[in-house]
Amino acid sequence: MKIAIPGEVAADEPRVAATPDTVKKMVGLGAEVALEPGAGVKSGVLDTDYQAAGATVAKNAVEQADVVLKVRRPTEVEVGTYKKGALVVAIMDPYGNDAALTAMAQAGVTAFAMELLPRITRAQVMDVLSSQANLAGYRAVIDAAAEFGRALPMMMTAAGTVPATKVFIMGAGVAGLQAIATARRLGAIVTATDVRPAAKEQVESLGAKFIAVEDEEFKQAETAGGYAKEMSKEYQAKQADLVAEHIKKQDIVITTALIPGRPAPRLISADMVKSMRPGSVIVDLAVERGGNVELVKPGGVAEVNGVKIIGHLNVPGRLAATASSLYAKNLYAFVEILVDKKAKTLAVNWTDEIIKATVLTRDGAVVHPNFKPKSAA
Ligand code: NAD
Repeated sequence: MKIAIPGEVAADEPRVAATPDTVKKMVGLGAEVALEPGAGVKSGVLDTDYQAAGATVAKNAVEQADVVLKVRRPTEVEVGTYKKGALVVAIMDPYGNDAALTAMAQAGVTAFAMELLPRITRAQVMDVLSSQANLAGYRAVIDAAAEFGRALPMMMTAAGTVPATKVFIMGAGVAGLQAIATARRLGAIVTATDVRPAAKEQVESLGAKFIAVEDEEFKQAETAGGYAKEMSKEYQAKQADLVAEHIKKQDIVITTALIPGRPAPRLISADMVKSMRPGSVIVDLAVERGGNVELVKPGGVAEVNGVKIIGHLNVPGRLAATASSLYAKNLYAFVEILVDKKAKTLAVNWTDEIIKATVLTRDGAVVHPNFKPKSAA
């Protein structure tokens, strides 16, 4: 059983899919582990660290691999260098990327999308969305604090009292809850909103105030999978009125709202941005999915009437070492279920609910029901 970890080809991707710790564990499962030279360097892991953990380092690491572990979906060129039948595990970003999924199918690899894991107890240890979103929520507060020209906590000094900063978190899922906790630790006064009723208690348990349009639609807004639904036009209008009033008085706003498989909901209009005081800061963590904020500049910081809108891409990558260590642990837990530990060989159970939910391509075809080409569906 050969497992390979290539370096990420995207210039803006500093994360890596294995750490010395997970290499050691994979060797313990009976695998031969090979990495491409420099694969971990942007996450602070040297080739020698991997070698000390039992891996080999070679340019052609992927060619003979039975399993390839990646952060991002491999490009057509990359996948062309993999063995037919190889299992490829990554964050595949499958929505709206049909051509790329077809390319993986045609290359003959079996691709698993980690973001499609079912949110069941057994899969929590593999949950890459949670591990990465948690770090993004933390980093969003740090980025906002760095751009904000004021201190966050209340300070009573001989020269006078500095008031505490007001932070508003929109979307209280994994990223939002961590943003609330981080902003509270820094001494801010925190409010938060969401469309799922379950979020209310979680927000309040972190010491923040919950603000939302709590009508009949709100009571039904959570899907069986625990995610938000797309809200009606009427709800969106009521929500916009509430947000418009609240946002004027805020110093920092962090938006994290997502709906699986849909564009991110637009929560902050240009007028709302302009209603904020100069010097205020907005962080849009949904920027890669279209953004929650009008006027956000993907990959940069926009300034409108003195209000900064931060639109960094790949926010977990801004904490590459921590993000890689958690991501690698998630992948190791997934690899464990692909293996027969006694025989020390690959033994994929295609009827396992985790496997069924994540497998995108197999035997030359896109097989996932949500992504099968229409004619084959
Ligand atoms: P997500 O990333 O899909 O969305 C982020 C947040 O945005 C969610 O809380 C969502 O309700 C909110 N949102 C969507 N539309 C909105 C709108 N119009 N206005 C305001 N907010 C809006 O969500 P997530 O972080 O993945 O978390 C979703 C839920 O799943 C949470 O309750 C979380 O605790 C739960 N969860 C469960 C597991 C598990 O059981 N293994 C793992 C992770 C998360």
